[in-house]
Amino acid sequence: MSNNNNNNNNTDYTFMKTGFSITGDERRQLTEEHLRNIEAMILVFTSHAIETSFLYVDHSTRNGVTCGDINLALKYEVFKFIDRPNIQEQINITSQILEEEEEEVEEEEEVEEEEVEEFVKNNCTCDICAEINSIDNKWEEWNPEEPFLEKLKERIDDIPI
Ligand SMILES: [Zn+2]
Repeated sequence: MSNNNNNNNNTDYTFMKTGFSITGDERRQLTEEHLRNIEAMILVFTSHAIETSFLYVDHSTRNGVTCGDINLALKYEVFKFIDRPNIQEQINITSQILEEEEEEVEEEEEVEEEEVEEFVKNNCTCDICAEINSIDNKWEEWNPEEPFLEKLKERIDDIPI
């Protein structure tokens, strides 16, 4: 045990032993690094979903990504995420970038807005689109027992289409 009392630097790394699963017996104190890891995981998750949503629109006759496309892609990602290769490595790299960027101020880029066509599911029969459409068809009846997945499902359902 150390007697160091650091106000800004949390030196308690016990959470590392258990990763993301914090049990009731453990202190529910989230360190900056733990929060950064969670943020990195969410960023990797959503960036895969955004990539998929662009593919889904590319395989349609519409001209741009809508909330509906993001919605389908997020649902798809729920089932794909843990099986993606190098996912832990991607999270680690993203977490590192977040740490480095913490002091930098990001400049916002102005993007020209263009009228985007209304969302409809595409008719593409490629493997990925077929699976995306199939997951969406079964989504409502899917009742995950894992609390994390349950929350994730609720959040995705909050997205207006
Ligand atoms: Zn397709």
